[in-house]
Amino acid sequence: KESPSKKFQRQHMDPENSASDDTKYCDHMMKARNMTKGRCKPVNTFIHEPKEIVDAVCRETNITCKNGQSNCYQSSQPMSLTHCRQTGASKYPNCQYRGSDITKQIIVACEGNPYVPVHFDAYV
Ligand code: C5P
Repeated sequence: KESPSKKFQRQHMDPENSASDDTKYCDHMMKARNMTKGRCKPVNTFIHEPKEIVDAVCRETNITCKNGQSNCYQSSQPMSLTHCRQTGASKYPNCQYRGSDITKQIIVACEGNPYVPVHFDAYV
């Protein structure tokens, strides 16, 4: 079974690409990363930073997650992100997205040993 940290990497990590306003990026990536199986995942953020930098957010400022759990952490540094949002016209199985390139601080939940990101909570 896929571990929570592998799932986070599949859904949110894309260090190889720099942010691009290419409208095809989200359509391609949401499918390539298996987030259009069974349904179109409505919202998803990709992080264009090295894994070490993102893992290190688990040692930054501890904050409360949206769901009330206490294991969220906010990056002090803004990061290069692409936020993908399903379009109104998108109909499963033809999932369609709009992408926005943004540079924001991220909030992730961390778990395990090693203590690594397992959930993308928000950007601020
Ligand atoms: O905030 P919400 O609970 O609706 O988020 C559901 C999922 O959407 C999150 O677990 C995360 O995978 C994704 N998400 C995201 N970027 C955001 C907000 C949500 O990737 N800014």
